[in-house]
This record gives sequence, C-alpha cells and structure tokens, in this order.
Amino acid sequence: MAKMGVCACGWTVISPLGQEDIKKHVMIHLKDNHPGTILTDEDIRRLTRDL
Ligand SMILES: [Zn+2]
Repeated sequence: MAKMGVCACGWTVISPLGQEDIKKHVMIHLKDNHPGTILTDEDIRRLTRDL
C-alpha cells in the first residue's frame, strides 16, 4: 500500500513500497536535516499516512 510520511518541518515523502521504505527515507531526512533527532518506530508510524 502506498504511504506518505510527513515531517514536522513540512517535508514529505511518498512511497509505493510501504512503511519500511518510508522509514528508510525518514531516517535519511533526519540525518541530513535534523541531526540529533531520534524517532522510534512508533514515532515514524505516527507521521505516516495511508494513501
Ligand atoms: Zn524535517
């Protein structure tokens, strides 16, 4: 199922591959843009929406 992840800063990612792919992209985004911010799997699920 396609998913959309939305960061608190307004950045979004859309993936047709699902939750694991969203998580991968969110982790990269955090590393590049919010260094020091740690999100748990639960946090990432909360910022993910079904499309
Ligand atoms: Zn962000």
